[in-house]
This record gives sequence, structure tokens and C-alpha cells, in this order.
Amino acid sequence: MRIPLVAGNWKMNGSLGGIRELLEGIKKGISGTRGAECAVFPPFVYLSEVERLLKGTVISWGTQNLSEHLSGAFTGEVAASMLLDFHCTYVLVGHSERRALYGETSAVVAQKFAAGRKAGLKPVLCVGESLEERERGVTEAVISEQLDAVLELEGIKALGEGVVAYEPVWAIGTGKTATPAQAQEVHAFIRAKLAAQDATIADGLRILYGGSVKGSNASELFAMPDIDGGLIGGASLNAQEFLAIFKAAV
Ligand code: PEP
Repeated sequence: MRIPLVAGNWKMNGSLGGIRELLEGIKKGISGTRGAECAVFPPFVYLSEVERLLKGTVISWGTQNLSEHLSGAFTGEVAASMLLDFHCTYVLVGHSERRALYGETSAVVAQKFAAGRKAGLKPVLCVGESLEERERGVTEAVISEQLDAVLELEGIKALGEGVVAYEPVWAIGTGKTATPAQAQEVHAFIRAKLAAQDATIADGLRILYGGSVKGSNASELFAMPDIDGGLIGGASLNAQEFLAIFKAAV
């Protein structure tokens, strides 16, 4: 059985006071809720505070990125071992904003996946097509290439130790959500592609949907058989909205 995961990607938002308020709100609303897992992905600088506030709760945390390198002369980068110092469970890799704005190729994303996993973190591998790619009819080819980079470097067993997040680029931060049927079609494609290598791993892998998920559309998305929760951007910055989404997954 796959336990749904609802994860908040805060991106480059928040302040020390703001994240305290947000986490207090989430903690209050979530206590005692079972049946789904909750995680937040703050900016690196707030990691220590997030750990202090969430230690001993049911909420997990992680970061939005990490270096593919272990340590050394990589100014501005953060290593997987450093995330372990703050007891992160997860790490996002290959978010479309990293791919598009910072030139992260699928090969680099695969190296980041490997660095996180080898350190003991659970990488959340983000995949998804642009609007232009969808309209050209190459959605499955794009997603295959993004998955194959990890499969070739790490193998199916390693991929199964992480989580996959399907995030159509045209739905991120645009208010344009994929319909449940559109999302399910891609999730089923991902699961079937992985099942061709290992059916048990594919069956146990959580595949999250991300892209303008809100309290008002979460239930119908999470009701789809291959959607195992969500990666939430904008709506994760509001405790009540994030809790409404979380509760739709329980
Ligand atoms: C995201 O950044 O991963 C995301 C899904 O953003 P939003 O929910 O704002 O579309």
C-alpha cells in the first residue's frame, strides 16, 4: 500500500517570522491526522529553525536542491551530508525551475538524485513537460528521458528508494491544473514504464502530482489510482489551504 505524501515546496519565499507562523498553523491542524504523510521544503537558511519546530512531530522536511558533489570547492553549494546534520528526510531534485532557470540537465539531476540517495535521503525526482512539448505530442518522450537518466545511472532499485513528482511545467504557478484524467494518464505511463523493469518497485513507488493544486481541486486529483499525493507550491504558503490539501489525501 502506498501512503500518500503531501509536500510543500516553499520556493524562495518566507521569513523567519513567517515560517514560524506557517508551521505553527500546520502543526495545529495536522496533529493526530493519520493516513497520509506531510513534508515541507523550506529555503536552506531556515532549515535549522524548521528542524527545531518540527522535531518530534509527524511532519518531515527536506530541501529544494542539493549539490551533486560530496564536498569541496563548490562556492554556494550545499552537500547531502549537510542536510543530514539537520535531519532532512527528503530532497527535491530536478524541479522544473532548476532545470529551466539554472540549466540543470537530466544528467546533473541524476547525479543529484544519486548524491542524495547515497547519503540516506529520499530524493523526490521532479519530471514534466512544457506546454510546447505537450502540444507537440512528446510528453511521454520528455518524461522518459528524465526518468532514464536516473535509471541509467542508478538503476530501478535506487529509483524505488525515492519518490517521483509529475509536474507539468505549464501547470506550475499558473493556476492551470492538469485535469485528473490528464494527470492520471501520465502517472499511469510512468508506473507502467517502471513496471517494465520491476513490477514490485513500480507498484510501491509514490508518484505525486504537482501544478496549481489547491484545496478545491485536490480531492479529485488524489482520487486517481496512480496519484499518491501532491507537491504543492503556492498553496503550501498558507496553512489553511495546505491543510485542506493534506486532508484530501488522508
Ligand atoms: C511546484 O513548485 O512544485 C508547484 C507545484 O507549484 P504550484 O503549486 O504553485 O503550481
